[in-house]
Amino acid sequence: MKEYDHKKIEKKWQDIWEKKGIYRAQDKSKKPKFYGLIEFPYPSGAGMHVGHIRSNTAMDIIVRKRRMESFNVLYPIGWDAFGLPTENYAIKTGIAPSKVTKQNTDIFRKQLKAIGFSFDWSREIDTTDPKYYKWTQWIFLQFLKNGLAYKAKMTINWCPKDKIGLANEEVVGGVCERCGMQVEKREKEQWMLAITKYADRLDKDLDEVDYLPQIKLAQRNWIGKSDGTEIDFKIKGHDSVIKVFTTRPDTIFGATYLVLAPEHEMVQKLKSQITNWSEEVEKYVKEVKNKTDIERTNEDKVKTGIELKGIKAINPANKEGIPVWVADYVLPHYGTGAIMAVPADDERDREFAEKFKLPIIKDYKKAGFEDFGKRITKFKLRDWVFSRQRYWGEPIPVVFCDKCGTIPVPEKDLPVELPKVKNYQPTDSGESPLANISKWVNTKCPKCKGKAKRETDTMPNWAGSSWYYLRYVDTKNKKEFADKKNLKYWTPVDWYNGGNEHTTLHLLYSRFWHKFLFDLKLVPTGEPYKKRTSHGMILADDGTKFSKSKGNGVNPEDVVKNYGADSLRLYEMFMGPFDQAVSWNRDGMVGPRRFLERVWKISQKLSKNSSLSVLKLLNKTIKKVGEDIDAMRFNTAISSMMVLVNEMDKEEVGVKDYKKFLQILAPFAPHITEELWNMLGEKKTVHLSLWPKVDESLLEDKEIKIVVQINGKVRTEIMINVDESEEEIKKQVISNDIVLKFTNGGEVKKVIYVKNRLINIVL
Ligand SMILES: [Zn+2]
Ligand SMILES: [Zn+2]
Repeated sequence: MKEYDHKKIEKKWQDIWEKKGIYRAQDKSKKPKFYGLIEFPYPSGAGMHVGHIRSNTAMDIIVRKRRMESFNVLYPIGWDAFGLPTENYAIKTGIAPSKVTKQNTDIFRKQLKAIGFSFDWSREIDTTDPKYYKWTQWIFLQFLKNGLAYKAKMTINWCPKDKIGLANEEVVGGVCERCGMQVEKREKEQWMLAITKYADRLDKDLDEVDYLPQIKLAQRNWIGKSDGTEIDFKIKGHDSVIKVFTTRPDTIFGATYLVLAPEHEMVQKLKSQITNWSEEVEKYVKEVKNKTDIERTNEDKVKTGIELKGIKAINPANKEGIPVWVADYVLPHYGTGAIMAVPADDERDREFAEKFKLPIIKDYKKAGFEDFGKRITKFKLRDWVFSRQRYWGEPIPVVFCDKCGTIPVPEKDLPVELPKVKNYQPTDSGESPLANISKWVNTKCPKCKGKAKRETDTMPNWAGSSWYYLRYVDTKNKKEFADKKNLKYWTPVDWYNGGNEHTTLHLLYSRFWHKFLFDLKLVPTGEPYKKRTSHGMILADDGTKFSKSKGNGVNPEDVVKNYGADSLRLYEMFMGPFDQAVSWNRDGMVGPRRFLERVWKISQKLSKNSSLSVLKLLNKTIKKVGEDIDAMRFNTAISSMMVLVNEMDKEEVGVKDYKKFLQILAPFAPHITEELWNMLGEKKTVHLSLWPKVDESLLEDKEIKIVVQINGKVRTEIMINVDESEEEIKKQVISNDIVLKFTNGGEVKKVIYVKNRLINIVL
């Protein structure tokens, strides 16, 4: 082939790779293993846009390099397919979500294959496949057996538009994370998972893993561990106490009042003694009920609060009676729902005290940290609301029997499959559409064989993704979620890359599930992911997010058709630093495409040996590209290869050295490099060849800086190559542009060269 034509190359090699299975992971191998993971996509109806593939491309480059370094690599892919968009589509069109999912995954698979990712397609999984969610249900039953899944009456966040209960995590700024609707509060019985039992370990074990610092911080903030002291404040003339949590027990002598959350149980208990109850307090408590936590704790808002008149608490430090207030900025579920206010030492307390004319003691005596109360640790993390009143999720595998109560479905009867329904619309009563299917709901009690009803709530869409990386190591297993030997060989995941937006919840949930399975001795390690990195988002060319409604998405298939997958991959990695957000540029594809055309052209002018400059630069580039891939500096790796190609354009390039260049380019542009490698007579694939070694002796810098004087005055400094002859160096210096400015056409009488130090030009 004379000209580079991606259309003749890419599909051809993709088929050959697939047929030969060169990217298949081997479950039994003497080689060291490398498990590279990306977040599996949600197969939406809009198909993929170019922003979706940044993470896949990056990890593809890393795992391709690892294969060339003789690792046995696992790089799997699957579908995280339960969830609302598909269900909403089913509500609109009446087409079954399972059918929609099948259509969408077919599109996604085709798109991914066209880009030439080196996934092991034999391990594809789908969270909505009963063969998969059987094990999601099985893990839920283990939580239930071990007392970590329980039902509780909860005030839940209810989205009136999506008709769904939301976890606290899914409410952002008081509105639904999915649709932006103002969230309401409702009372509902919900399944809960006791993630708080693992709060301390989820925090502490972050010390053991290699996550980016900002990811660890996001995890820690979400868990919200704080060490402090619980202090009892007695109520005057009453035998109960108010427990206060503080991280500054040493300031207790400065505490001049207490503040309770309006929901605090003591407020109701003290009702009969509160003299302004019906005039003020009752109304205030009611008002606060409809406010979200975010509204309540906003720093900028005007502070509100009401004194509980007739009530005094006793400061245990100085035995003085102090007033008790209710205020909305104190949240019921953090700490004990009550604080001691030290206005001399705390900004917020001072503002509150100044506004309501409460006493401020400036010079109070500091107490010792152990003097009052007992040391305890508190967490912000709440238990995980695990019920959803929707159709398209894993059914929660329990039944309710009048005689026996809540009974788990026996493991041998799993999976509890989703029944086919006609109407996917959720009900206004807040029950799942499954509640309307009496044939499915009415069942036998596994224990007494009497009449029983199935649970109609389903699991949240976080469930399937909490353990998917474990299934990849043994996708076809019918007896267990994965074989122990496979788990031992493959886990933990060596490197996990994903979106910045998933560094709190998904990561926390899957770490929690993993630790639970570890405690049951079902997985060999305490943490699922050794290393976690994140990429910046790709934005549309106008700097906004890609969105279906705006129609600004760019389909990778169109780009592949016009420029080729290799150009697309290069562009995605070249467009900016990997961890930062960057805008798509419609003209940006031209540069990478031209680069590949030049790479192709060089293959047609190869000689026996390379010039010294090519040889040296090649060595430097091999070193740099290798280091840059491992540090995710893909853009600088590509620019260094561009510099090398410039040099190769001008100079002699030997076949052997050109092949080394193809090898380091191969992870980035797998198709063109395979074609050229093959054209040069190689019978085996470039992608399983050995990563080229760096020749250290060629890396030494032979360039040095010398001082240039004109008539004895220092004028400039110039880089010279120490290997060149004195004549050559003198010639270079005299014809240098800066030197010419100073000599200004004057006649050069004499040139004195002090080796490797200076040159003096005498005019
Ligand atoms: Zn919503
Ligand atoms: Zn029963």
